[in-house]
Amino acid sequence: MAAKLYFKQRVMTPGPTSVPEAVLLEMAQPIIHHRTKQFQAIFKELSERLQRVFRTTGPVLSLAGSGTTSFEACQICLARPGSKVIAVAGGKFGERWQDIYDAYAKTLDLTVIKLNVPWGQAVTAEQIRQAIEQNPGVSAVALCHSETSTATACDVESIAAVTKETDALLLVDGITSVGAMPVEMDAWGIDCLVTGSQKALMLPPGLGFVGLGPRAIQRLTDVKPQGVYNLDLRRWLKSWQKNDVPFTPPVSLIRGQRVALEMIEAEGLENVCARAARLAAATRTAFTAMGLKLCSSSPSDSVTGAFYPETTPAIDDKKFRAGTRDNFGIHLAGGQSGRGAEWEGKTFRVSHMGYVDAGDTLAAIAAIEAELRRLGHKVEPGTGIAAAAKALA
Ligand SMILES: *Cc1c(COP(=O)(O)O)cnc(C)c1O
Repeated sequence: MAAKLYFKQRVMTPGPTSVPEAVLLEMAQPIIHHRTKQFQAIFKELSERLQRVFRTTGPVLSLAGSGTTSFEACQICLARPGSKVIAVAGGKFGERWQDIYDAYAKTLDLTVIKLNVPWGQAVTAEQIRQAIEQNPGVSAVALCHSETSTATACDVESIAAVTKETDALLLVDGITSVGAMPVEMDAWGIDCLVTGSQKALMLPPGLGFVGLGPRAIQRLTDVKPQGVYNLDLRRWLKSWQKNDVPFTPPVSLIRGQRVALEMIEAEGLENVCARAARLAAATRTAFTAMGLKLCSSSPSDSVTGAFYPETTPAIDDKKFRAGTRDNFGIHLAGGQSGRGAEWEGKTFRVSHMGYVDAGDTLAAIAAIEAELRRLGHKVEPGTGIAAAAKALA
C-alpha cells in the first residue's frame, strides 16, 4: 500500500518524536529579533523551566545544533588537556562519544580509555570505580544514561556517587532520559547533563541543552579550551548569565521549547516520567507475550527495543517498518550497528518519550503484531494488545 499523506501519522521513533499542536502553533509566530527585551524574557523563562526539568539550580545552556553538538562541546571543554578521559560504550551513542574524544585526542593531548560493555547491558558503578582506580589522572567520565541504540538504562545515581569522590567530572548523555526518566542532576551530583530538543522535550530537532554543575563551572575556569570557538562553553555561559546567547539563536525553536516545557510542568515532571514508565512496561509485556526477545537486560523507560522473531524466511526489517508506516501510520526505528554489535536489520525500536499516550502505544503494538504476522511470525491475533491492556489496567 502506498503511503497516504492524509493518513494520521504517529512518529514513534526514539527521536525525532511528535510535536504537540500548541508547540507547532507557537513556532508559527512571526520572527522576532533576538537582541530585544521580548526575546530575553522568553529566553529567561525557558532557562528557568529547563533548570526545573534538569533538577538543578545551576545554568542550563541552550545551544543551536543537535544533541551531538552539545555533548561534543562538553567533551572538549571539560577535559583537562594532557589528562585521561574514560568513555563508556555499550551501543552506538557511547561509541560516538569515544570517537569524538579520539578526534580531539591530539589537540588536547588526551589518553582515551574505552570502557566497553556488551550491547544491551548497563555499565555498573563498580566498573567505573575500577576504571578510575586503574588509570590515575582521569579528568572526565562520559556515558549515556539511556543508550537509545540498545534501549538500555544505567544507574547514574550510583555512578555519580563514585565520580563525585574523585577528580573526574561525570558527563551524562541524558538525551533520551531528561524529561522521560527520573534524573536528579544536583541531588545525584552529575557535573554535566545534556539533552536534545527532539527527544523527550517535544520539539523539532535543532536545540541542545547543557546543564553545568559547580565542579564543571570550576573546570571551565581552570582549563583553557583549545581549538574550539562556537563550541566554547565559556562563551555560552557568559551570555547565559545575561539571559542572552552568543550567536543568532533558532528563535522559533526557543519559543516552541518554552511552550513545550510549560506543558511538561503543567502535567508535572513526575507524572510525565510515570507515563513513560507505564507505556514502556506495557510494551515490554506485550513484546514478551508475542514471543519477542527484548534488546536489553536493563531496559530504559524511554524506548523499547526487540529482536525480530525467528521465522523462515527471516523477517525483512525494511518491509516490516514500511508496513507499520504505510498500513497503520506508525513510524518505528530499526536497529543500529557499531563496533560492539551488528543490530541493523535485526532489531526495531519504539519510543515512549514526549507527546505519546496509551492510545498511541496500543496502536503501535497492534500494528507491530499485524505486520509480524503478515511476514510469517506465528502469534494469535490480539496477543500483544491483550497483554498491554492488562499491564495498563
Ligand atoms: C539521539 C541521541 C543522540 C544524538 O543526538 P542528535 O540530536 O542526533 O545529535 C545521542 N545520544 C543519545 C542517547 C540519543 O538518543
